[in-house]
Amino acid sequence: MKQRPTFPAQLDATLAKNRPNAQGALMPRGPLQGKPATASLQLAAALPAIKAKPVHHLPAKVVPHGVGMDSSAVRTRMVQKLAEGGVRDPLVLAAMGAIERHRFVDSALANQAYEDTSLPIGLGQTISKPGVVSRMIELMRNGATGRLGRVLEIGTGCGYQAAVLSMVADEVYSIERLRGLHDKARENLRLLRVANLHLLFGDGMVGYAKGAPYAAIIAAAGGEAIPQAWVDQLAMGGRLVAPVAQGGTSGGAQALMVIDKTPQGIRQTVLEAVHFVPLKSGVA
Ligand code: SAH
Repeated sequence: MKQRPTFPAQLDATLAKNRPNAQGALMPRGPLQGKPATASLQLAAALPAIKAKPVHHLPAKVVPHGVGMDSSAVRTRMVQKLAEGGVRDPLVLAAMGAIERHRFVDSALANQAYEDTSLPIGLGQTISKPGVVSRMIELMRNGATGRLGRVLEIGTGCGYQAAVLSMVADEVYSIERLRGLHDKARENLRLLRVANLHLLFGDGMVGYAKGAPYAAIIAAAGGEAIPQAWVDQLAMGGRLVAPVAQGGTSGGAQALMVIDKTPQGIRQTVLEAVHFVPLKSGVA
């Protein structure tokens, strides 16, 4: 059988330094440095409602092959377009080129996976356009040259953006409030063996305090305002990127908001108009 060497090999190489250590514990980086190596697993055990589990490891030979297209070439073209559209961050472009978006959508939609369009992922939710994903992650990284430390994503959805994040940050925590999508993301990510990505089921409106402080927080759903918990859980010097309703109603126009936590205080910047699914409280 013909092997597809590009994707798993690249991801493995990039993620190798985040592999579990001899004891099977994750080696925390960034903001957790200096704490015990098992901290991220302990915090998962400490929370009954929200469980953080690393995505399963499977042998490389079970990684499935493609869907009848040379997805690597199609992704390369997508990345070229993203770069032409203004995305500059090399880590973001590399991650967008490596993560196979077609594996995160229904097979009937796979042929549209590399177009710059949002697509349905079930339960009334959508996977964001590659242009928006790369733009938001570039903003979130704020010009960092290497990987960020710990990152929190609100709205796992199908898990695509979480997978991209796992290549540009040392540890990624991603929360989803819909059980069906949380399970779908886990299934989508199972074969990718992404050891530094932790999927959480819970209400992301309250963030995930046990993992704080975060170098960055990114939301894939838009509310009427930025929840205070997110700002509280941001590290000093950290950046939050989220869609927020303009004019105080969640049904209407939204814009991307960037919040920087600086020693001088909170700096808020409103950028371009966007269209995201609503941020909702509670789980379902
Ligand atoms: N990043 C996702 C985009 C999914 S759409 C992807 O790559 O597929 C946004 C998601 O946010 C939806 O799945 C929705 O259920 C979820 N969401 C909305 N409010 C939330 C909340 N309070 N906590 C966690 N997830 C939430």
